[in-house]
Amino acid sequence: MEIDPDKVFSVVVFVGDSTFKTAMRDNVVYAGDYVRFIKSKTQPILSDGEILDICTRIQSGRLRPSIRTHIDHVKQVKVIVAEKQRQEDNLCPKCGKPMILRTARSVNNQGKQFWGCSGFPKCRTVRQTSHRCLQR
Ligand SMILES: [Zn+2]
Repeated sequence: MEIDPDKVFSVVVFVGDSTFKTAMRDNVVYAGDYVRFIKSKTQPILSDGEILDICTRIQSGRLRPSIRTHIDHVKQVKVIVAEKQRQEDNLCPKCGKPMILRTARSVNNQGKQFWGCSGFPKCRTVRQTSHRCLQR
């Protein structure tokens, strides 16, 4: 059985010695505040059978809590954070060099601007400008 993604709500819970430096979405919470998020979902969307099936699968698929699991988790989070920082600094996701604004010369896209890696032609990473335009 595949679960419809619309029926799944992610919630991120921080515990221990941590505080949020900026405002968070309502599904990113500190400690016991996750209870409020869960209780805000009141519409039943799964049958009893579906719930049982999901619980069984979570129990069988859960990684055993260990140092190894913790290290892998921290590593993965660091990769995500570094990638986000690169996007904010406008660095190439592939080689880390700055992205620079270029103008297309091809017949189809003539005059269109895009972000190209300054490592060109060694690195050919490009990114459309639309998102940046909205942000800045
Ligand atoms: Zn590059």
